Amino acid sequence: MHRTAAIISQGDEIVIGQTLDTNSRWIAARLLDAGVVPVEHVSLPDDRKAIASTFGRLSAAVDLIVCSGGLGPTADDLTRFALADAMGDTLVQDGESLRQIEAWFAARGRPMIDLNRVQAMRPSRGTVLSNLHGTAPGICAKLGSCDVYCLPGPPRELMPMFETFVLPRLEPDGRRTVRVRVLHTIGLGESEIAARFRSAPGGDLMDRERVPLVGTTASNSVVSCRIRYEGTLAPAEAEALIARDEATIRSLIGEAVFGEDDETLASVIVKTLKARGQTVATVESCTGGLIASQITDIAGASDVFRSGWVTYSNETKVREVGVPASLFKGSAGGTESGAPGAVSREVAAAMAAGGAGEADADFAIAVTGIAGPGGGSAEKPAGTVYVAVAGRACETDVRRFAFTGDRAAVREWSARAGLAMLWLTLSGRRGVRLLRQVDGAPVC
Ligand code: ATP
Repeated sequence: MHRTAAIISQGDEIVIGQTLDTNSRWIAARLLDAGVVPVEHVSLPDDRKAIASTFGRLSAAVDLIVCSGGLGPTADDLTRFALADAMGDTLVQDGESLRQIEAWFAARGRPMIDLNRVQAMRPSRGTVLSNLHGTAPGICAKLGSCDVYCLPGPPRELMPMFETFVLPRLEPDGRRTVRVRVLHTIGLGESEIAARFRSAPGGDLMDRERVPLVGTTASNSVVSCRIRYEGTLAPAEAEALIARDEATIRSLIGEAVFGEDDETLASVIVKTLKARGQTVATVESCTGGLIASQITDIAGASDVFRSGWVTYSNETKVREVGVPASLFKGSAGGTESGAPGAVSREVAAAMAAGGAGEADADFAIAVTGIAGPGGGSAEKPAGTVYVAVAGRACETDVRRFAFTGDRAAVREWSARAGLAMLWLTLSGRRGVRLLRQVDGAPVC
């Protein structure tokens, strides 16, 4: 029976922050979906003793351990040795595994060096999990009553191996039900949401003693509200509880909810435009194509995305999308000549209208701003960004934002603001003010 699980991510590069541990996040979500509750994540350096003792400690506490990384051929790949130490076992060479590794190199016309032989080693009481996408096979073993799966670190190897070898072998506690619902919002900060949840009929939705548990996570301007049930109720009853809380949340902050579970602003926009047979274009300056990139990340974007310009210079804003040259007479601040300048409400609006016209699109998103760290002025400091959404059937919505943070943060917030404003237009909610918005009366 697998009620609880721990996830180990292995490697110095994870511990020092050089590689972002996306494997643990992915594994945790899959386990939870399958009804096994992750209770601990541990990141460990390339230290055989530390890995072995962590295997020992966790195996006494949970039913399942999934470990990623450290199965390569080099001296810093220590997972198999540490697992054998924790098991009080020795490593043996697995003949079938060695043949598979040799075949992997032969198929690519590359000689196999001796170093790779270690990858065919497994604890004598463990079994090998074959890897179709790389040279590092996985290992499955028992530590006491705990099942341990060691998988290679590269996500494109780990993911298919998890689906093939771990998922089908999970034995979730049939009497425990786990259900999670996530509602994504834009326009409200975490504290505003918490304040509204406090006034819910029946008491604070975020009370830690409550069932289901409700929590929030902020990622730039998107705040996600998670409703999570874990307990012995039948699935239908658990789903009813989740539905009840979802309805309460929608009644408290419904105007800000744009999507659910795996949805993103871009995916919701693509879905909505597709359903309506409408199209969008982008004209970006300081975001350098981030908005176009996020839209085209979504499968099916070709049905709705017409064209994207990165008009970084004044000349291209004029030449490509027809922004009137007279708007640029001054500096970025535009104060000397009285012209508004490149970073202005007027230029953002002209970029959006010009892009929609040039691309013959129903909508266009435009962004012009100062990503920083330099380039700002007293009137328009770094982080000043104008975002506009133009549409065939509505007035152009232009808003000024004052973002903080480094260049990457300003660009990411700006891209999110562009997508959020299009979503507000599409959902008829232009009245919603966005986070960090400093002016721009919403119009419709
Ligand atoms: P291989 O022999 O294929 O390298 P391995 O099991 O030895 O497999 P590692 O050397 O630990 O894997 O990691 C290889 C690469 O996989 C890392 O450089 C990193 O890009 C990626 N990776 C490792 N662990 C993680 C993780 N937890 N999350 C995301 N990526 C990871």
